[in-house]
Amino acid sequence: TKQVLILLYGGRSAEREVSVLSAESVIFAINYAKFVVHTFFITQAGDFIKTQSFTETPQVGTKLMTNATSGASDFVSPASIYEKDAVVFPILHGPMGEDGSIQGFLEILRMPYVGPSITSASVTMDKIMAKHVFESVHVPQVPYVALTDLSEIEQKIAEVNDKLSYPVFVKPANMGSSVGISKAETAADLPSAIDEAIKFDNRILIEQGVNAREIEVAILGNSDVSSTLPGEVVKDVAFYDYQSKYIDNQITMAIPAEIPDETIAKMREFAEIAYRAVAGTGLSRCDFFMTPDNQLYLNEINAIPGFTQFSMYPLLWENMGLTYGDLIEKLVVLAVAAFDSRE
Ligand code: ADP
Ligand code: MG
Ligand code: MG
Repeated sequence: TKQVLILLYGGRSAEREVSVLSAESVIFAINYAKFVVHTFFITQAGDFIKTQSFTETPQVGTKLMTNATSGASDFVSPASIYEKDAVVFPILHGPMGEDGSIQGFLEILRMPYVGPSITSASVTMDKIMAKHVFESVHVPQVPYVALTDLSEIEQKIAEVNDKLSYPVFVKPANMGSSVGISKAETAADLPSAIDEAIKFDNRILIEQGVNAREIEVAILGNSDVSSTLPGEVVKDVAFYDYQSKYIDNQITMAIPAEIPDETIAKMREFAEIAYRAVAGTGLSRCDFFMTPDNQLYLNEINAIPGFTQFSMYPLLWENMGLTYGDLIEKLVVLAVAAFDSRE
């Protein structure tokens, strides 16, 4: 009998388009000798729609259905995704997908799922919480100021001006894909950057800006963790915002990244330490800054990284000899193992 895989895609976060592309990549790459795939689209409002089922590789050009192509009459109860012995792959990013909420729901349903546990999802989704955890295991990070009480904006601005130097990056704690993030070049820009971030979250992170290369390591595993050689995000824009990341395609990747062996070794070690510290499960992409003098800073861990066939995470594994299709199978095995250890 074939393994049933349930793909959840779309979702409530600003990153829903990436999610759809990742899910489409999976339906084309998966081995239908072993799998049957059922897909559910989650609308921006959070409603579930049962979309397609696949028992063989779809025809070239097949698209997964999205809100625009499916009406409200198709809404189903979220719990209706349940199927005995099925594994769920929530290819969802950002809030209500990558933050522990869907993971908690799947645990209530007692279904195995690919990727981060409740804890690893929620800790890595909150950039301030993640900073505290990384600090506790001595993984280097850029200096920062956390604003968690909006009545303290004035004091925190003073603290930024005292502790950090410009430019600084202002980020909502709980977003992804650069949504709500802005760069304040001078102290005069800081209040409006904070106002922008506050639209998305009332926990705000203000970070020292660094002039650095952006180097990423892929991690795979539950308690047994393995990492890849790093890849580099080569930018021709000052800062890798949502538009440049996904719309303009102004990003190219260098895999493997050209950096000294000892820096690679250090980076992989930091990535594994950080992954364990946030209770990493399944997969994660650990994103570093590397300064011209080879100083490393962990920027963030993305617990459900972009997962299209052309995304950094799968390509880093391909460079290690693990194909995209085999990677999906490994993730399913890890999902079942994590489930068995919870049950
Ligand atoms: P997201 O979770 O939205 O990807 P990041 O924290 O990775 O948020 O920030 C998005 C991008 O902004 C980074 O990839 C980088 O290009 C830029 N950036 C963020 N923080 C800094 C910083 N402290 N110094 C320099 N660039 C930064
Ligand atoms: Mg992120
Ligand atoms: Mg990032």
